[in-house]
Amino acid sequence: MVQGVGFRPFVYQLATKHGLKGWVCNTSGDVKIEVEGEMSALDGFLRDLVALAPPLARLEDIAVTSRPPQGYTGFEIRHSIAEEGKYQLVSPDIATCEPCLKEILDPKDRRYRYPFTNCTNCGPRFTIIEDIPYDRPKTTMRVFRMCPQCQQEYDNPLDRRFHAQPNACPECGPSLKLVDGNGNSVEIDDALAAAARLLKEGKILAIKGLGGFLLACDATNEKAVKLLRERKRRPFKPLAIMVSTLDEVKKHCHVSEKEEELLTSPQCPIVLLKRKKESVVSLSVAPNLNNLGVMLPYTPLHHILLRETALPLVMTSGNLSEEPIAKDNDEALRRLNGIADYFLLHNRDIYSRYDDSVAIVELDKPQIVRRARAYAPYPIHLPFQSRQTLACGAELKSTFCLTRDNYAFVSQHIGDLENLETMEHFETTLELYKKLFRIEPEIVTYDMHPEYLSTKYAKALAEQRKDLKFVPVQHHHAHIVSCMVENGSQGPVIGVSFDGTGYGTDGRIWGGEFLVADYEGFERVGHLEYVPMPGGAAAIERPYRMAISYLLTLFGKDALTPDLAFLKDVSRDEIALIKTQLDKKINSPLTSSSGRLFDAVSALIGIRGRIDYEAQAAIEMEMAADESERGSYRFSIVERDGVSVVHVKELFDDILHDLKDNVTRGKIAARFHNTMAEMVVRMSQRLSGTSGIKKVALSGGVFQNRLLLRLTVAALEKAGFEVLTHSKVPTNDGGISLGQAVIANFVVLV
Ligand code: ZN
Ligand code: ZN
Ligand code: FE
Repeated sequence: MVQGVGFRPFVYQLATKHGLKGWVCNTSGDVKIEVEGEMSALDGFLRDLVALAPPLARLEDIAVTSRPPQGYTGFEIRHSIAEEGKYQLVSPDIATCEPCLKEILDPKDRRYRYPFTNCTNCGPRFTIIEDIPYDRPKTTMRVFRMCPQCQQEYDNPLDRRFHAQPNACPECGPSLKLVDGNGNSVEIDDALAAAARLLKEGKILAIKGLGGFLLACDATNEKAVKLLRERKRRPFKPLAIMVSTLDEVKKHCHVSEKEEELLTSPQCPIVLLKRKKESVVSLSVAPNLNNLGVMLPYTPLHHILLRETALPLVMTSGNLSEEPIAKDNDEALRRLNGIADYFLLHNRDIYSRYDDSVAIVELDKPQIVRRARAYAPYPIHLPFQSRQTLACGAELKSTFCLTRDNYAFVSQHIGDLENLETMEHFETTLELYKKLFRIEPEIVTYDMHPEYLSTKYAKALAEQRKDLKFVPVQHHHAHIVSCMVENGSQGPVIGVSFDGTGYGTDGRIWGGEFLVADYEGFERVGHLEYVPMPGGAAAIERPYRMAISYLLTLFGKDALTPDLAFLKDVSRDEIALIKTQLDKKINSPLTSSSGRLFDAVSALIGIRGRIDYEAQAAIEMEMAADESERGSYRFSIVERDGVSVVHVKELFDDILHDLKDNVTRGKIAARFHNTMAEMVVRMSQRLSGTSGIKKVALSGGVFQNRLLLRLTVAALEKAGFEVLTHSKVPTNDGGISLGQAVIANFVVLV
């Protein structure tokens, strides 16, 4: 990755330092350097090229050849050359660097308070690029003509802004505009100062940022936060906040050394941190949770706004519920009408939509939860040479993946593929990636679920393109392989996929799966016992339905005794309906999902019976768990036709006893988590006994549960297993496309 990261000026300075003549040039495929001079100087140059490369540059490979001297008289930076079929890695967008920050805070600098300040080490990249090579005319910055001063910086190889494609200043670059909720301009000189004032007054602002619009309000103002939730129609889903500096973050959250590193990295993701009791951030920002999603400012605009409000600000995606983030001015004014009181607009177009990335530090390493801004499209390395492949991903938290050579380009988080707008975002982003990385897939792979829009997209393509190979992949196999690949492991492994939903090869809904898997295939050697999901999707939205299903399935028709407190929130009619659905097997698909088991227990012990966002019941149970509790519940493993099935009747029996004995929710929640970890270990030991495999890969959305992950990894390691977990791609369905792409490459070869 050598474009947009200050690589050519670095080469220029290096060549000069070693007294070498020649040239450097960007192409679509790589960077070419020709240098001539003394042998010892050439050696020194090559050594320094690797050792001193700019911080954001990544050298994947260096090839050296000799040629006769050409008699160059100086060293020059030549114009970029576009080459047919070649491609190269493009830097993702990078948070404002220290020298740029100094300038915008310095009243004497010509870029004082200029919101679009950037240089070769920071600023927009992937959100503005339309094609390669990465040059200004191929970005949305082409409409701005640089003033003489900016041009001088741009042309001077010794300047920090040499060939900084988005280079701009208040004279010549993009500018801000403040409009009210109906799009009428607000007549003021200083839009930024006015925006800060409005935020302090408790107003809700839609602010155009790097990859799209963010909705902002004062995070300490309970009324403002509640109003934003109401308008966004999101009563519970946690909102991210932006805080001006690391010191300020520490007033609200506990920050470990590794978390500090992640927060202040050039990627500047949202990091989930443990909230401090004394924090003044409104509790409505993350209801019922004991963590906060926090990020530092990553553009000059954010830096200035955060400093001038002197408040932590809610900064949440500018969309209504599950739609994609709004990116264009007109689009935002239309879609966010009625949500934002004011809009802070600018005239630098966003070419590609990017949400903020979300990460955590767990098991002492960063783990990406939502991979978007500043991470995508940097590729994941494949441990093999791939054919050009498109993997269409799953449905929720969707991503696609394109592969070529030994690279997997996993797209940014696209969103839940449940509506037309998100599907359009999927398709336009796919076209962009195909163009930028010069990929024309010969293999197309997709989830086995017939109803996913991503599957339908692949099937429609299959109708038109008989020349391509189409490969359906099982959801949990893809989860496990995504985890193997990012760890560089070829397997075989014991794959534990604890997940919400995934279409099984038997047509049932899987999600508590034990697989023996490698890249080519898998055997389902174990799973949780099947229970019906009364009402299908309704059972996901209302976890008490799963609790009722487990009780009736495991203990028979008299299981719903009057002492069960959670039933008080369920109407008699609905209980009768659920019974009918179960008895007559109406719309009650069978599932082995561990996500549904977590839901059932959460509802049963009175934590959450209805949800507003995915996995809310399980997340709130994790938060409630008393981590000092060591106890656990019984369960049994029964072998049928060579498959080990986990039975949970005793587990529910024990929980019902604890409820009768008035054991606290915190203790029951902890005992349940401990049990699930034990389950993984006992199953792994059993499966290791028959297969001889000592390596376990953990994947699936349920492992976003940090307590469960910690307990499971510790117990597995204690039992002598090597454990693979996620770090680079999400353990949730955002990682599915990577697994699909790898599996398809191996299936096609076989
Ligand atoms: Zn900079
Ligand atoms: Zn300028
Ligand atoms: Fe999944």
